Amino acid sequence: MSSMTTNGTNGDASANGEVDIQNLGFVATPKVEGEWTVEKALDASPGTATSAGSSSPLPYFHMIERLKTTKREGWRRFGIERGESIADHMYRMSLLSMLAPPALVPRLDLARCMKMCLIHDMAESLVGDITPVDGVPKTEKNRREADTMDYITKTLLGGVYGGLAGAEIREIWQEYEDSKTINSHFVHDLDKMELLLQMMEYEKRGQGKLDLGEFAYVATKFSLPETKEWAEALLKEREQFWGAQEHVHGEAGVEGGVKVDRKEQQDSYYERK
Ligand code: ZN
Repeated sequence: MSSMTTNGTNGDASANGEVDIQNLGFVATPKVEGEWTVEKALDASPGTATSAGSSSPLPYFHMIERLKTTKREGWRRFGIERGESIADHMYRMSLLSMLAPPALVPRLDLARCMKMCLIHDMAESLVGDITPVDGVPKTEKNRREADTMDYITKTLLGGVYGGLAGAEIREIWQEYEDSKTINSHFVHDLDKMELLLQMMEYEKRGQGKLDLGEFAYVATKFSLPETKEWAEALLKEREQFWGAQEHVHGEAGVEGGVKVDRKEQQDSYYERK
């Protein structure tokens, strides 16, 4: 009966030995009992490569497929089941980075920014997308993500081509997390801009039946004036879309219709370290 799940390739095979072919493009975030560790998360996700110390990049290549099969979670709370993946989000961010406003370009290392876009949520491949409403403290979220990045870049990639690519990925991820350089500030703004674009697109496709306005909150958290202009233009587009119909203004916080506890969750999630 269990032969389907022991061959290491079909993590989501159902218990009765049937393979759910329709849903092979989706893999649930591994559920871990007690303290979260990389080992427990790997144990809970059969089929994920665990070839520590390999000199081949293949275990890493397979690992990052999880960015395609893991969904961004924020939308699910609003009923969107087949929403964007982590990879979808990071891919559009890297395309946004190519349109950096000319006033910013001389101050940026755009190649590094593009890499940062493609790397910044890599840890979610194992940790899952922890959102402001999940109640996981920020320090714990950071610990899980840093442990996962150590696993990917040191355990999986440490023995590949002298470990150089792994070291670079780990370093760029840390620069994003530390959020002290202009490159990282730009990429953090792109992260929020990508969210705002997706919010608007889901709302439009929802034809006025779906109000995602609480996410407009992130428009208040941009750090560069050049990218903040993008956010403001998008919020104008959103006002035009909703017109006279009542809707949530996340950018105005509680006064804009966001619940008090949600606002507190968002504030602590986006707090600058
Ligand atoms: Zn992101």
